[in-house]
Amino acid sequence: MTHQVHIIGGGMAGSEAAWQLARRGVRVRLSEMRGANLPGGGDTTAAHQGTGLAELVCSNSFRSDDHEKNAVGLLHEEMRRCDSLLMAAAEKARVPAGSALAVDREVFSAAVEQALAALPNLEIVRERVDALPAQGPVIVATGPLTAPALAESIGGATGADALAFFDAIAPIVHRDSIDMDVCWMASRWDRGETKDYINCPMNREQYRAFRQGLLDGEKTAFKEWEANTPYFDGCMPIEVMAERGEDTLRFGPMKPVGLDNPHSATPEFPRGRWPYAVVQLRQDNKLGTLWNMVGFQTKLKHAEQVRLFRTIPGLENAEFARLGGLHRNTFLNSPTLLDRELRLKSRPHIRFAGQITGCEGYVESASVGLLAGLMTAHELAGRPWTPPPRTTALGALLAHITGDAEAESYQPMNVNFGLFPPVDASVKKKERKEAYTARAKRDLGEWLLAGV
Ligand SMILES: Cc1cc2nc3c(=O)[nH]c(=O)nc-3n(C[C@H](O)[C@H](O)[C@H](O)COP(=O)(O)OP(=O)(O)OC[C@H]3O[C@@H](n4cnc5c(N)ncnc54)[C@H](O)[C@@H]3O)c2cc1C
Repeated sequence: MTHQVHIIGGGMAGSEAAWQLARRGVRVRLSEMRGANLPGGGDTTAAHQGTGLAELVCSNSFRSDDHEKNAVGLLHEEMRRCDSLLMAAAEKARVPAGSALAVDREVFSAAVEQALAALPNLEIVRERVDALPAQGPVIVATGPLTAPALAESIGGATGADALAFFDAIAPIVHRDSIDMDVCWMASRWDRGETKDYINCPMNREQYRAFRQGLLDGEKTAFKEWEANTPYFDGCMPIEVMAERGEDTLRFGPMKPVGLDNPHSATPEFPRGRWPYAVVQLRQDNKLGTLWNMVGFQTKLKHAEQVRLFRTIPGLENAEFARLGGLHRNTFLNSPTLLDRELRLKSRPHIRFAGQITGCEGYVESASVGLLAGLMTAHELAGRPWTPPPRTTALGALLAHITGDAEAESYQPMNVNFGLFPPVDASVKKKERKEAYTARAKRDLGEWLLAGV
């Protein structure tokens, strides 16, 4: 069968993209290296265990299924409304997990594979692809553990620096949960830099207690295959820095120099004094709703991060859009490299989908696969593509990846309400989540009615 679209990678994103295209009558070749039995190996990743399509590499949870109050639950619902194969398979494989959607991973993968294998115009080929194809349309959905030869080929097409090989994740905080009566906005030395920072001040006792918390805190162990990956200086975990000496952090990411704290102003020092140490947050999205903790990449366990970071003055009630982490990961600087339709600007016959675009998580990866499939179907039919509204989970995530995120500090991102345009300020705080989801469902409905 000659194909019209070549999808590389049969994980979360590639499987969903294949479904969306083949269901619309497009002839698809889906290349998946696992199961290829290549001489000398090279047909699996360091995290996958089997050969099934859409294998979940770690937890079996798609996180919250609450589509009234939770952004990932909303994304589930939007994907269901877009006839998502992965959401249908998850329903079949569902296991009890309270308000979360958790699945039996074997049943899930088998359901995906069975549904795809039943489509006559879809060919599943067990093969590893080592270079970006010269002609398209192609969807590359090879994930965070893209095989090395293809990763190199992508690096060649995007510029060697454009492909990140090590993923250092600093936590991200919702702006409206930061106490600005304690923190203040400033750039170091008050220089007219284009980006201002939110500064959280610490005195000597607070700093010492915080450093001790980092030293004592429970860390996530490196996986065997990650242990050989050296730290890059620029993304050393804060707890490793804390181990190096009492003041290492104060000379690193917590440097207070040049930061007058106006909350400590006195007649003698009307501009305020430098605190003993500072935690800085930098704007992470264009809307200004998300702020990342600068230099705070960490392997502390998630519960430990929440507990410890809430001891930072001004962050006592911090709500985290994402917590820190550090693992090897391949992703593109999508805001720079991809256009609004996920196409590589320098080679528009190639689209990217899934975690390699810089979304994070099973559901997010699948949702970007879904969108890549729909975009490609439109392109083949010669129909102009209208993206899902920015107020929907699909639209907000897509906009973030394809240009709205700050390219300089771009890091993998889960879906969360901070990516959405804010709802009317008159909506009471405790009713805001419902306001986001109600608006999203209404707008998605209109988008779907317009014909996708
Ligand atoms: C170790 C680890 C643990 C994670 N744990 C979680 C978690 O618990 N929960 C969560 O929500 N997210 C987790 N993630 C993040 C992410 O959601 C998953 O990696 C997700 O599977 C990404 O979906 P994807 O479709 O982009 O990539 P994948 O699902 O990884 O699919 C990519 C596919 O491409 C294939 N492939 C790679 N290179 C080639 C090639 N050259 N030719 C042909 N095929 C190729 C791979 O075999 C794979 O099947 C984890 C990531 C990693 C690395």
